[in-house]
Amino acid sequence: MEFIDPALLAYCEAHSSEEDPVLKHIYRETHAKVLMPRMLSGHLQGKFLEFISKSIQPKVILEIGTYTGYSGICLARGLAAGGKLITLDINDELETMVRGFFEMAGLSDRIDYRLGNALEIIPSLHEQFDMVFIDADKANYMRYYELVIDQVRPGGVILADNVLWSGKVIPEAGKKIDKDTQVILDFNKMVQQDPRVENILLPIRDGLMMARKK
Ligand code: SAH
Ligand code: CA
Repeated sequence: MEFIDPALLAYCEAHSSEEDPVLKHIYRETHAKVLMPRMLSGHLQGKFLEFISKSIQPKVILEIGTYTGYSGICLARGLAAGGKLITLDINDELETMVRGFFEMAGLSDRIDYRLGNALEIIPSLHEQFDMVFIDADKANYMRYYELVIDQVRPGGVILADNVLWSGKVIPEAGKKIDKDTQVILDFNKMVQQDPRVENILLPIRDGLMMARKK
């Protein structure tokens, strides 16, 4: 999923603020005990999310796709005083572990962690969002974007992860585009054509689309 040369990535990480012990612990535990640990954001992307969040100082952040809580903790660290992160995941098997991680990070009281299908939960949320991180099932990216956009305040930011899909957005000659890749292509095109936002696709990790509502 990394596009950058491993040596350059290591250099970038060595020149980015250090990953703190709580995040290091989550990284290790996820790799030791959880399926598909590659889904975790990791040092560089995590720092980036934290940095953007600290710049925005959001009152309300919505995260779609908690997994083991790594990105959620990074995002929550930028919250304004009294702010909250609402984070959604359909996988309840990780609940105890993730709640423990939020506790360890000292963020339990600022994180509203809800289990269930994001498609069903989002319509029940009536908050205005300063920041949204879309990182759940790719097939529903377009739906998530449409479900949240009216509740994002002007100047608020939507980020969507994995939008370069391991580079498959550039199809190899003669190869058929698979279904998962097609939904990412459609999503990126839709954001690019959406007059409600200005956007930038950054080649960080597996590709991060940032859209700022006008
Ligand atoms: N944001 C995390 C990684 C998320 S991985 C990080 O960067 O560390 C994607 C997560 O989306 C998985 O935990 C999966 O259970 C969740 N997910 C998939 N479909 C979902 C749905 N319909 N509703 C809510 N969560 C979903
Ligand atoms: Ca991701």
